Amino acid sequence: MNLNHLYRAVIMEHYKNPLHKGLIEDPTYFTVHLHNPSCGDDMTVQVKTDGKHIFDIRHDGTGCSICCSSASVMSETLIDKDIAFALKVINEFYNLLMAKPYDETLLIGDALAYGGVSQFPARIKCASLAWKALEQGLIREGENSNG
Ligand code: ZN
Repeated sequence: MNLNHLYRAVIMEHYKNPLHKGLIEDPTYFTVHLHNPSCGDDMTVQVKTDGKHIFDIRHDGTGCSICCSSASVMSETLIDKDIAFALKVINEFYNLLMAKPYDETLLIGDALAYGGVSQFPARIKCASLAWKALEQGLIREGENSNG
């Protein structure tokens, strides 16, 4: 099994058995909804923080396997991290998707399975949609805690 097959297996596993999927009716969660018109992906991400630390991330949506699996990987990667750290990891994930150098100490685990997406520019939006939604939520939550 070569690396591409391994990475494809990781993506399909998260697509079939997504972690932290399903929204929660709780006003302490911050909700961001994003749409990717080029593929039809539709993603809602919820995050619970105290303005510094991420206690929980939920996601739900419809779309391609890249988008839906990436939301699962995103939640698994960033739950129980500090917001400042998570924003760095998100940025390294964008670097990975664009085939730019990324910090291997920050970006680890199943997120690395999306490195091959850089060869398919149209799919970069798919892979980053849930991460962008979380990023928006984290920036908003961080601002709230400062005010
Ligand atoms: Zn897609």
